[in-house]
Amino acid sequence: MTEPAAAAPNNVRTVGVLGAGQLGRMLALAGIPLGLEFIFYSDRPDDTARTLGDHIHAEYTDLEAIASFARRCDVVTFEFENVPAATAEAVSAAGTPIAPGPRSLAITQDRLLEKTTFHKLDVPTNAFHAVNNAADALAAIEAVGLPAVLKTRTLGYDGKGQGLVRTPAQAERVFDELGGVPLLAEAFVPFTRELSTISVRTWSGEVAHYPLTQNTHEAGILARSVAPAPNVSPDLTKQAQQAAERVMTELGHVGVLAIEWFEHEGRLLANECAPRVHNSGHWTQDAAATCQFENHCRAVCNWPLGPSHVIALDEKRNLICVTPGVI
Ligand code: AMP
Repeated sequence: MTEPAAAAPNNVRTVGVLGAGQLGRMLALAGIPLGLEFIFYSDRPDDTARTLGDHIHAEYTDLEAIASFARRCDVVTFEFENVPAATAEAVSAAGTPIAPGPRSLAITQDRLLEKTTFHKLDVPTNAFHAVNNAADALAAIEAVGLPAVLKTRTLGYDGKGQGLVRTPAQAERVFDELGGVPLLAEAFVPFTRELSTISVRTWSGEVAHYPLTQNTHEAGILARSVAPAPNVSPDLTKQAQQAAERVMTELGHVGVLAIEWFEHEGRLLANECAPRVHNSGHWTQDAAATCQFENHCRAVCNWPLGPSHVIALDEKRNLICVTPGVI
């Protein structure tokens, strides 16, 4: 795995984005007023961000196309975490910094590496165990307890690639239903609520955090966010933000990093993290001094961050944001 050789120069003009969907579009809408130009690269001809910059339509595995795209950019970032390692390496090999870097991608693409990293950094999680075959599935659910959730280690999203196991007899069946691929077994958490942190870190290690957001999912998909999350003690906020900072430092992360948390018995347990701008942070477009999209642009461009405090609240001191659908 190649680490990016150097930080982005601080006179970046052209930002390359792998992916050209809703999040890429929002990055451009925040970056264009800063004087940035965008080149999007995606494997679909009709992606929504294509009207906000040049759009290269090619496969992510076409490393020659990736290299020529990268050579046109001062820095490359991405809007989805499943960028293949070889694609990120081809960007670096073309001499263009990529942020977040290969380590952020490698760890966050694999639920086992992600949970192991949380554990190593003393970031609390639910119990978890690796599953490589059907026999492991039984041993793993014994280790984590029932009910348990089996999740594919890679390529799962929006609740896809996971199954609930209530009895030992269901373990092998769920393993097979998930395609017999390596899994993560974890304890089911009867959480009080789900929260997320959106944090951002620059090449020089400057960090900013947005207030915790409370999220409700429907069928595994984020349906509603309330920010700042009500009834969060300053101590809980501090714990979450310090944890996010440890994770970003460990990954050498540059850009926005979102961590999704379960609140359970007054504690926060890390569920997963995303090395990119996050849909639970859409509210920052209207209600934070600098939105997550602008701060992601600032971070990857090696510029100072803007302030992340809340600037708009309703009469109950909450900001309620219904997550926009795919555009
Ligand atoms: P994930 O893909 O891990 O974000 O999971 C999607 C959603 O499934 C989460 O936002 C939770 O609502 C639910 N979920 C995932 N893992 C667990 C778990 N271990 N315990 C309870 N609910 C879970």
